[in-house]
Amino acid sequence: MSVNFQELREQLTDDMIKSILSQYNVDPVAETPDSIIFPTCCHNLTGGSPKLYYYKNSKLFHCFTECNSTFDIFTLLQKMHALRGEDISIFDAIKLCDLDILNSKNLSLDEVIQDNIKYLQILNNVQLTNNKDGFRIYDKKSLRRFNFDYVGLAPWMNEGISVDALQKFNIKYDNYRDAIVIPNFDYDGNLIGIRERFLKEKDILKGKYRPMYDSGILYNHPTGRTFYGIYENHAAIERKHLAIIVEAEKSVLQYGTIYGLDNNVALATLGQNITFDHIKILLKMKVHNVILAYDTDYEDYEQLAEVRRKYREKAKLLAPYFNVSIIIDNDFILPYKSSPTDGGKEIFEKLLAEREII
Ligand SMILES: [Zn+2]
Repeated sequence: MSVNFQELREQLTDDMIKSILSQYNVDPVAETPDSIIFPTCCHNLTGGSPKLYYYKNSKLFHCFTECNSTFDIFTLLQKMHALRGEDISIFDAIKLCDLDILNSKNLSLDEVIQDNIKYLQILNNVQLTNNKDGFRIYDKKSLRRFNFDYVGLAPWMNEGISVDALQKFNIKYDNYRDAIVIPNFDYDGNLIGIRERFLKEKDILKGKYRPMYDSGILYNHPTGRTFYGIYENHAAIERKHLAIIVEAEKSVLQYGTIYGLDNNVALATLGQNITFDHIKILLKMKVHNVILAYDTDYEDYEQLAEVRRKYREKAKLLAPYFNVSIIIDNDFILPYKSSPTDGGKEIFEKLLAEREII
């Protein structure tokens, strides 16, 4: 279900329109039974000729001069803020009108965002360019507002990730949402997505790791078509002809902390899907050996057998192209659902030495 902008506009009375615009020192020049005439605040910061008409029936504005177009109050507010050097999203504009999109329907904010991505991108005039693989490239400026915050990033430091690793991978802290900011780059270093690791309990319920949504832009990307860590680690992988495939970003950083950032050959699939795109990327990097180091999603022998079967299936997808082995914690050294890198160097090397050749 998407947001019905017409329904939202219906909630606006003529007095509300006047009161919203009066907050910007824009007052009606004239009023008729059918329309309210305003100065052209749509394209003038101050003043402007009385050529911006608001039609009470349709609840739409029409600018008869420079804009020469019809738009609603939300777009008008976006235009007015843009004149003041601020890019606001359609949702910000709705909030400025004191309308609550979430109250009118039983939708979560995430559902609203998912359903309106395209609309949002158009309305925000986000100039999206694509990389050679068709991924959207986001502006790296969007990372600048986040800091390298030692307190905010402490949860990851406590999990065996060094400051150097965090810095190399451009990990930041989002103070506003209390989340760890994880930029995803393509092979060439273009920003193709930003994910966040949420730290608040109520956010974790909606998913511990999710694409960042900020100022009307969802920084998502097709994770199955790339590897996390490819930009930072491709040189070491190409040199060693070896890739260690893990599930999560965190494990890529842990591996770099254990073996040194110049020797980091870990790549994350952000889940447990091995795709043909992954194989193509590994071939392009001249990888010969692949070690699958997925999480210990087992706490008894029955589960272990089931998960081993699953991991072997994944390994078999890679086997026609590479020498493949899988890491399995046969002795349950690590807690349930740990990454093989979670226990530090000693445990990882034990698991590595006992890995199963496919
Ligand atoms: Zn105008």
